Amino acid sequence: MKKETKVILDKERCVLCSRCVRFCDEVTGTSELGIYNRGNRAEIGTAPGVELDNNYSLNTVDICPVGALTSRDFRFQKRVWMLKAANSVCPGCATGCNVRIDHEAGRIYRLKPRYNPDVNGRWMCDKGRMEYKPVHADNRLVEPRLKNETARWADLKSVLSSKISSGLGLVVSSAHQSLEEMFLLKSLAGTAALCGGLAGSDMGEGDELLLNADRTPNRKGLELLGLPEMDAAALASAIKAANGTVLIHGGNPASDSAVAEALKAHGDVIYLGSHDNETAAAATLILPGATWAEKAGIFANKDGRLQGFSQSVARQGSGREDWRVLTELGGDDAPTSLKAVRDGLAIALELADTNLNKLPARGLALEGATSGGDV
Ligand code: SF4
Repeated sequence: MKKETKVILDKERCVLCSRCVRFCDEVTGTSELGIYNRGNRAEIGTAPGVELDNNYSLNTVDICPVGALTSRDFRFQKRVWMLKAANSVCPGCATGCNVRIDHEAGRIYRLKPRYNPDVNGRWMCDKGRMEYKPVHADNRLVEPRLKNETARWADLKSVLSSKISSGLGLVVSSAHQSLEEMFLLKSLAGTAALCGGLAGSDMGEGDELLLNADRTPNRKGLELLGLPEMDAAALASAIKAANGTVLIHGGNPASDSAVAEALKAHGDVIYLGSHDNETAAAATLILPGATWAEKAGIFANKDGRLQGFSQSVARQGSGREDWRVLTELGGDDAPTSLKAVRDGLAIALELADTNLNKLPARGLALEGATSGGDV
């Protein structure tokens, strides 16, 4: 079956400015587009057998001045002047492109690139533009579940506090979580074994422009906070050796069957996450968290640049901000606001003089960090 292009051309609107042609020549270097014919028959097109299907094709929609190029995903979904905008960071890979989330009435309609010369210039990849879809997916976790029964947060308080007070056996973070959440999870661990997640998970094919092979937004954060990832065999052994509850935050380590089996055999597993998956299926207690669009936080991109993102849409069902759940699990000594969490995080990152609540618009490059280069 012929693949559908992501961009649709309405030729009658085109004013032949040639911006889209230049984009494909000068930015992606793929040169799919050209101006064909002469005089009043001139039109934008592709050569026979060629499609506009590079990783960045939807940027031509942004730079078309007359709306002749439109996105198949977004066109006619919403009148654009009805959309509200929130600044954010793409969670699709380790580059951390700066984005704008366009949303209305709790629903995200599109992601657009936001200018940051140190990270993504004016562009973002097509895959990144679709990162809003999991927010509205059918497999969202929207209510707590204890042993497959729906539960209420209030009823879980005593269960959770007895598990935490009797000591956790292992805590497992994920490169999809924010720095604040990683910091809180580590603080919560006490004497429990620490793991940053399943090594080598969420990898794909990268390119030379923006898209990184590491499809997580914060693997650098695990490194900064000393949360080492483990391969599947090591993680399965750590689960078997865990003397107490295993607390998993985000990600899907049970996508590996050895890890899934170890979790099921352990039988005392809490999963705090946003989507139903193999790890949720192996957990005895499920706590619904929030996606990146439903909470605020900070990611460290592959170059060690700290970039903040803010909440754009309401959480679904009984889902809670993950940092709030983790502070509640931490008891009376845990910080009670995101600001207080960030103050503690700044000390842990040896950035005590830095206000992480007010990061610069282009992000904060840690010492030794490099910029994204020319994009
Ligand atoms: S390059 Fe990575 S961070 Fe940038 S838009 Fe694509 S997936 Fe998102």
